[in-house]
This record gives sequence, structure tokens and C-alpha cells, in this order.
Amino acid sequence: MKVVIIGGGIAAVKTAMGLRGIENCQVELISDSPEVHSYSSLSQELYHRAPNLRELSISDIFADDKNIDVVIDSVVAINNQVKAVKGSSGNIYRYDTLILASGFGDGSPKYSVPGVEYFAYSVYSEKSLSELKIKLSCLIDDRSRKKIRVIVVGGGLSGVEFASNVSNFARTNFADKFENKTIEVELIESTNKVLPKLNDEISDKALKRLNSLGVRIYLHSKVKQISDHTVKLTNDERVADLIVWAGNINQNTLVSRYENLLKQKDGKVLVDKYMSAVNAPEIIVIGDAAATPYSGVIQTAIYDAEYASELIKSRVNKKSPKEYVPRQPEIVATLGKGWSLYISKNKAHSGKKGWRRRHKPENKINKRLRSLA
Ligand SMILES: Cc1cc2nc3c(=O)[nH]c(=O)nc-3n(C[C@H](O)[C@H](O)[C@H](O)COP(=O)(O)OP(=O)(O)OC[C@H]3O[C@@H](n4cnc5c(N)ncnc54)[C@H](O)[C@@H]3O)c2cc1C
Repeated sequence: MKVVIIGGGIAAVKTAMGLRGIENCQVELISDSPEVHSYSSLSQELYHRAPNLRELSISDIFADDKNIDVVIDSVVAINNQVKAVKGSSGNIYRYDTLILASGFGDGSPKYSVPGVEYFAYSVYSEKSLSELKIKLSCLIDDRSRKKIRVIVVGGGLSGVEFASNVSNFARTNFADKFENKTIEVELIESTNKVLPKLNDEISDKALKRLNSLGVRIYLHSKVKQISDHTVKLTNDERVADLIVWAGNINQNTLVSRYENLLKQKDGKVLVDKYMSAVNAPEIIVIGDAAATPYSGVIQTAIYDAEYASELIKSRVNKKSPKEYVPRQPEIVATLGKGWSLYISKNKAHSGKKGWRRRHKPENKINKRLRSLA
């Protein structure tokens, strides 16, 4: 069987690892980036707690695997009738089974709001994140500056974490330069609550915590444009020294081109009980690309990858496959020192209790990520 995997993130790499040495199974992993694509929570990022996978070459991971080839190319077309995909290089890759692990956005994310690329630091771009840290340290270094104004756009997990931690991060890392200086943080969210994907009780807890940290919150506020130091809202304009984008990104370009072949909901591909795209059993969709109940976190991407490799093995061995059972991941968000939200099986622990438990899912994820190296 010839398996083509599209993607260079955790879901793609983990699936290929699960197919190592399988007889009668030749794998071609096509990624638009030579290194493993990975994100970590911004609080982990700021405090350097996450394992750094970014310099991990995908080709090196599979250098000794005879049945796995890594190709650096960007897939631009899928023809499921002839079972082939085409790369931007012009090369054609044929498959019996296609695994779509292309994530939600693109490797270089695209934004629907004008100005983000030029005037904001995006949490979706590694380059932008490291530039953000440099900009922050320059603002802190500037002794004539008494106040640093930060605007974070997007009240999801990343935005809430960043808004809660930026002040503490600056105080901890630049204590000597921080005298007589304040950081003012504003968080802008378009819906009616922070953490809009989580239940009201959890959102309320996060909101109270953000208030107690002095973060000013603007709900129901849609950003129309970002220009130099300015965030334009429908009826207002906010000014800042540092603008951080943790809002929406556009869906994956490849997926967006195939609305008929890949039926979609909110930019993610609908799948059946075997993780196949509806009406296309040859195409398995996993990780952030799939419209499963818990997609959007690393634990689900890893879980899906393990399911996908078992599914391929059952197809190779002509055994009947197991159905996919969605598994609820644990979620952790750290909102300033000593205070975390830890959500497991719909139960949320917050404050010090959450803080004490925060390492549980972080350690689990980090251990599994380190196993790639
Ligand atoms: C800022 C941020 C912080 C996060 N923090 C956490 C966290 O703390 N905990 C957590 O569990 N989750 C977190 N997440 C979510 C987590 O990163 C994702 O759930 C996970 O990375 C999904 O893995 P994936 O392999 O499905 O997709 P991705 O990691 O998005 O990988 C997709 C890969 O496919 C490549 N690709 C796309 N299209 C093509 C194409 N046409 N051809 C070739 N290659 C292509 C992309 O370049 C990329 O390398 C965070 C996400 C963000 C953005």
C-alpha cells in the first residue's frame, strides 16, 4: 500500500512513526517545511518550559526508515479520482491512502484583518514570536519610558495566557530595569466572553482572574484593521506600543480549494467513524484539519495519529478497522504566576488548585513531544 501524508506537524510525524517498518506499506510524507511544526502555550514559550522541536529535521527523524520518504514540497492540488496529489514543485505523488494532516491554517498563516502581518506580532508565527520578545525587551530597556501599553487581540486560550503573563514575565526577567515602569494590558475579543469555546463557568473564572491582574477587557469588539500602533475597532480605536495577534487565522489554503471533495464545517473537514473524509474513504483526515469534537490541541493530534497508523495497519493486513472514539483532552492555561485553569473530564480546577495540577497535562505532552527527537 502506498500512503501519502500531507503535513509536517505532530499529527503527520507521529502517524509516519507509527508506520515504521510495516511490510507492504510505503510512506511518503510531504511537508512544506523541513522542520517539525509545533506550537506550545505562550506561557510555556515565555518561560522556556516547552521542548524545542523547531530545529528537529523531519528527514533526520526518518533517516533510517526504509519504508518512509520525506519530501519537502507544498501540496497544491488533490485529484482523488486518479489518487494523486501535486506539489508546487510540479511533482505528482500517487497514493492508495491519503492522510491529510495539514493543520488548520497554513505554514505561513494568512489573516482576514488587514495590517496584522505588518503591525502586529502574531502568536501563529515562530519568527514573529521571537521578534515579539526582542521588542518587549527593547521597550523595557528604554529607561525614559514609564508605561508600556500592550494590546492582545483574541480572547481564546493563547490570548488569555499571553495577556495574563506578559506583565509578570517582564517583572521576573527584567527586574532591575523595571523600576518605576508599568505595563498596561488590554484584551480585545469579538464574542461575548473570554475563552469562547469553553463553558460559561470557566470563562467567568478566567474573566475574574484577568480583572484581578489589571487586564482591561473589551468584549463584543471586532477588529477591522491594524495600523502602526493602532487597533481599529468598529466604533473605537485603541493605541499601543505592542500589538499581539492571537485572533483568527484563515483556514488551510489546500482544504479551502476542495469544498466538494472535502465537506467542511468551520474550515475543518468532516469525517466519518473511521476518520475518512465523508464520501472519500481513501482520504483520512487527522489533527487540527479534522472536524472532530476535540481537535485543536496537541493531545488530540497525537491521539488521531495513533488511530491513523493503526487504521493503515488494519487495511494493510486486511483486518476490519476499529471505529474512532473521540477522547476529551486535558486542558491547562496558566493565568499569571500561581494561578492556572486545569480542565479534565469537564471538571475545572482553578487558582492554586489548578496551578498545582498544571504540570500533569504539560508533562504528558512534553514527554510525548520529546519522544520525537
Ligand atoms: C499559539 C498556539 C499555541 C498553542 N498552544 C497549545 C498548547 O499549549 N497545548 C495544546 O495542546 N495545543 C496548543 N496549540 C494547538 C496545537 O499546536 C495544535 O493542535 C497542533 O499543532 C495540531 O497539529 P497538526 O499536526 O494537526 O497541525 P499543525 O501543527 O498545524 O501542522 C500542520 C503542518 O502541515 C503543513 N502543511 C499545511 N498545508 C500543507 C500543504 N499544502 N503541503 C504541505 N504541508 C502543508 C504545515 O506547514 C504544518 O507544518 C496551540 C496552537 C497555537 C497556534
